[in-house]
Amino acid sequence: MKRWATERQLQDLLCELVRIPSISGSAAEREFPKAVAGLLSEMPYFREHPELLRSHPAEDGRELVTALVRSKRPTSRTVVLLSHFDVVEIDCYGEWQEHAFHAEELTRLFYDRPEALPDDVRADVESGNWLFGRGVMDMKCGLAVHMSMLERAADGEFDGNVLLLAVPDEEVNSVGMRAAVPVLTAMAEELGLEYALVLNAEAMHRPAEDDSIRYLEKGSIGKALPGYLCYGRETHVAQPFEGLNGNYMAAEITRELELDASFCEEVDGYLAPPPTNLIQSSLMTSYSVTIPYRAVAMFNLLMLEKTVDELVAPLLGVAERAARRIEERFAERVKRFASLGGADRPDFKVKVLRYEELLDIANRTFGEAQVKLAIAAAAEQLPPGADDRQAAAAAVDAIALLCKHLAPMIVLFFAPPYYPPISSRNDPFVNGLADRLSEYAKERHGMELRSNSHHGAMLDLSYVGSEEAAASVRQLAADMPLWGERYSIPFEAMEKFKVPVMNLGPFGKDAHKWTERLNRDHAFGKLPDVVAYCLKVVFEGANGEK
Ligand SMILES: [Zn+2]
Repeated sequence: MKRWATERQLQDLLCELVRIPSISGSAAEREFPKAVAGLLSEMPYFREHPELLRSHPAEDGRELVTALVRSKRPTSRTVVLLSHFDVVEIDCYGEWQEHAFHAEELTRLFYDRPEALPDDVRADVESGNWLFGRGVMDMKCGLAVHMSMLERAADGEFDGNVLLLAVPDEEVNSVGMRAAVPVLTAMAEELGLEYALVLNAEAMHRPAEDDSIRYLEKGSIGKALPGYLCYGRETHVAQPFEGLNGNYMAAEITRELELDASFCEEVDGYLAPPPTNLIQSSLMTSYSVTIPYRAVAMFNLLMLEKTVDELVAPLLGVAERAARRIEERFAERVKRFASLGGADRPDFKVKVLRYEELLDIANRTFGEAQVKLAIAAAAEQLPPGADDRQAAAAAVDAIALLCKHLAPMIVLFFAPPYYPPISSRNDPFVNGLADRLSEYAKERHGMELRSNSHHGAMLDLSYVGSEEAAASVRQLAADMPLWGERYSIPFEAMEKFKVPVMNLGPFGKDAHKWTERLNRDHAFGKLPDVVAYCLKVVFEGANGEK
């Protein structure tokens, strides 16, 4: 007897998964894998094969779950069904917060209070076809659908192996997926698996506002987090022209890079969004009347095909233009001040360096041992619970402090996380598969299913291996402080894990907002059928004929 076959059963399963408040970094996120493993372990298949249902620790002890159902007809051909089970915070729910994880209840409450909802949301509530709640679309629906595929696989529906992979921390640093890649390559060897496709089930990316069109994606966008450490000159506020304010330097960098469309790539008609500032702060730890002469700015930068190597030159260009502007503007202000009777000041130059160059100068000037000590001392002074961004900035800052003779300077570095862009848009197998799925969706469900080259959000699919990713590793390792210590990407395992990718997920709206909602008809009716068809197409000829 299947437990997750009907629309009602699937909705119940989803609501059960949503009830676990697995916000990234929370205790519930740590507990979640046990709940999934618990549900799966009740399947007769896993009672018979408990060794194929496993939990694996990531570097920080959070766990990921794998569950393999082998085909009755022996084959190595395997599809990986990927999902993440962490969700984002719920502060934005305000008065509704306590109901955020009770999807059916929250949906009812919204129905009873239409006047408290934005217009477009009210229309959806009244249609009765939407389920609200944190995680319903992003992305516990995907996990529920994948669990139902395992059940169908155990029932003998597919001629290939189905491997479910559910990971934590997708919304923050992808700790789970980065740990999963070596796990999957080891399992392939141990169990004789050949991965034909990694199928993710994140809610589809909606480039058009037309609600009737559905999309699948052949990849996902990449993301880097370039940072600029701005090291000016210290001075008392009463003699500001003796120094250079780091906060001002950071402001000029933001002015230069914010929403700069020259960084936007276009592929197959899909245009990546421009960079935007995520962090801009002083590195002074306390208030004083010394100007904040050290500051940092970090930017979200999205890529479709560019490697880190290709980003460095334009990012240095930003720093150079900001440096020239800082010099010019400072000179102007000095002149104006002098015209009023203030003291004149000589001009200065702002140096622009990459992190690797700064580190090299520091090592040659002070010796590697002293540089290491300085970085370690800075790490110790971090507040408890400091994240990877703070740690990266503190490391660059420590080295810049050693090399203060170079100031004023701007140092370009990369902070975690890094998501390599990935797309199987040039893979004939994936293109053929996408066409078959579109035809099937039209015939069977009257549904228009279009293909996009990239999903517009960062997905864990980024860590499925690709040439571009490998090409980025050298530059990234060189210019990312604490690389290999606090943060790393399993590029070696990714090299061995070059598998075509696709995202085929539910239709939802307002991810990461309090109005996050899932279209029920599609999620529990059409989507599971199309995903099952997708598996059947991938497994065609899986028994040696091909
Ligand atoms: Zn997600």
